[in-house]
Amino acid sequence: MLKLSGKAVYKGIVLGPAVVLKKKDQQVKRTKIEDVNKEISRLEMAEKKSAEQLQKLYEKAEKEVGEASAAIFEVHQMMLEDDDYQEAIRNMICTEMVNAEYAVAVTGDNFCEMFASMEDDYMKARAADVKDISNRLIKNLTGEEDVDFASMEPSVIVADDLTPSETVQMDKEKILAFVTIHGSANSHTSILARMMNIPALIGVSVDLKQIHSGVQVVVDGFHGEVIFEPSQEVCADAEQRMKEEQEKLTLLQTLKGKENVTLDGKTIKICANIGSVGDVGYALENDAGGIGLFRSEFLYLGKTDYPTEEEQFQAYKQVVQTMAGKKVIIRTLDIGADKQVDYFHLGKEDNPAMGYRAIRICLKEQDIFKTQLRALFRTAMFGSLSIMYPMITSVEEVKKIYHIVESVKAELDADGIPYKVPEQGIMIETPAAVMVSDDLAEMVDFFSIGTNDLTQYTLAVDRQNEKLDGFYNPHHKAILRMIQMVVDNAHKAGKWAGICGELGADLDLTETFIRMGLDELSVAPSMVLKIRKKVRDLDISKE
Ligand code: PEP
Ligand code: MG
Repeated sequence: MLKLSGKAVYKGIVLGPAVVLKKKDQQVKRTKIEDVNKEISRLEMAEKKSAEQLQKLYEKAEKEVGEASAAIFEVHQMMLEDDDYQEAIRNMICTEMVNAEYAVAVTGDNFCEMFASMEDDYMKARAADVKDISNRLIKNLTGEEDVDFASMEPSVIVADDLTPSETVQMDKEKILAFVTIHGSANSHTSILARMMNIPALIGVSVDLKQIHSGVQVVVDGFHGEVIFEPSQEVCADAEQRMKEEQEKLTLLQTLKGKENVTLDGKTIKICANIGSVGDVGYALENDAGGIGLFRSEFLYLGKTDYPTEEEQFQAYKQVVQTMAGKKVIIRTLDIGADKQVDYFHLGKEDNPAMGYRAIRICLKEQDIFKTQLRALFRTAMFGSLSIMYPMITSVEEVKKIYHIVESVKAELDADGIPYKVPEQGIMIETPAAVMVSDDLAEMVDFFSIGTNDLTQYTLAVDRQNEKLDGFYNPHHKAILRMIQMVVDNAHKAGKWAGICGELGADLDLTETFIRMGLDELSVAPSMVLKIRKKVRDLDISKE
């Protein structure tokens, strides 16, 4: 039994098998080889293993999602066996006397470029497949274990740290908890854990070499503890507590359909934050009043190329239609900082949180922004949609956005495509936006306060830096005063103001927020009913 402690970012308790994700060395190194035959037979073994994996994936996908969707794995098998591809790799090994990993990586890149430059859209799309095949071969050559999320049983993910694009690829139904060595309480992995209603511990000094996938583990988010290979006694205790937690959750379910109203009759809207179309289920399950923040950048993460207008339109439409008339606020792209996407080629920055991110990218790379706006405006025809813009600092930025909005309207008109311009709000998440919120309120339909970034920028504390968790204090008087200022300025202009940052779910502040006059709290789906309970027990007529 090995007991370690960490910082709990979401409470809860689970018992289950561990899946250990080891950090991969992405760089393939070129090394000189002496024995060509040995290298070729290594390659052949890796090819055989890859073919077997693809066959298994094909069979599984065929059973679960049908033949048409499984066909992609057949295409991968064919590519793996492609004569030109195989010959190019072998040729490089023999003539340059290099290791197979390197030959595969270079050949993969060359083929990928070749496909990407083709005219035909179908062939262009094959670039990503070649890359995938080459990565699979390299992994099989290096003997690196790859977790097959599709066939994984529900497990506790144990990792160094997780990037948003890694988590977005995981099948959420299969994740019981997160345990990471790094990561901060305000990182997107933590936000995701809260959304999924699963315990998560960060800052756990676990030696990943000593822990093997499959061992039983208890993650106790109440006490900030993780116990690997627990004794029978510890398991029994965990199971009992899991049962008790389940009972509490069942009790909360009785609040479904009830209003968010205090004993003295004050109401507040409670909505849910989501990151993908699949998360809408969590919002509905927890009886959220709507979606207060759909982090649309998650559509861009974990992909090899920009999502097309049509892909985005289908995703947004599905969310709006599934919410059946309840309001959905989609935030435009907030890429950059901790949310890096390779194909954006953003480059390394010394200070990414203060760098090229969110609306700054959209204002400079307008084609990306326009594609998203077109998809959003088309979606507005299908339900109750609002959109909001992140990281605003000035009136001038909003003017620039409106200018782009006009050109998108003109394009859609010219194309004869039906659309509607939805309600447009902004996120208030920079101190500058707070200070000019009186002017901004005149220009927009609503404010949504992003307390995660507002805290970071006001206190000059990097939200990603785990060393600073103790300094990151969203309860700071400066933040609370700013929230009050934003609410007052919104109301003076006849607009509404809500919070969509993590602070909105802080039960210690629910009463304060109602007293401040906030109109909406948008929180992790798992928190909706907990806040409803809190609100219904309050009487704010009493001092
Ligand atoms: C925030 O900053 O509070 C917010 C909601 O946006 P994100 O966490 O996605 O930066
Ligand atoms: Mg933010």
